[in-house]
Amino acid sequence: MSETQRIDVSRFVRNVATKKGWVLNQDPDFLASLIEGLEANLLRLGYLQCPCRLSWDDPKKDKDIICPCIYAGEDIAQYGHCFCSLYLSEEFARSAAEPASIPERRPEHLFP
Ligand code: SF4
Repeated sequence: MSETQRIDVSRFVRNVATKKGWVLNQDPDFLASLIEGLEANLLRLGYLQCPCRLSWDDPKKDKDIICPCIYAGEDIAQYGHCFCSLYLSEEFARSAAEPASIPERRPEHLFP
């Protein structure tokens, strides 16, 4: 098994949330589905590609959407959660609001 396949994704996303001052999605089933998506991408691609975006299957072309993606900080600041709603701001989480669909910040020319 490669080094990347040994990553504990659940622990990884919790550590990212703690380090960034974010909160994980508070719906346990939805959170589990996102973690499963990340685990599947890790196994298939060898990197933690965003679970709700299409992939080039190329880490260089997908580098902006390796979780946590480069868009997460701005999305969380503006909308209270990232594009997939994996990570929430503390304020959004406290509000008990439901994450909603938000605009895709990734530029179209980077889409597969
Ligand atoms: S949108 Fe959220 S889940 Fe997707 S890569 Fe960005 S931070 Fe990760």
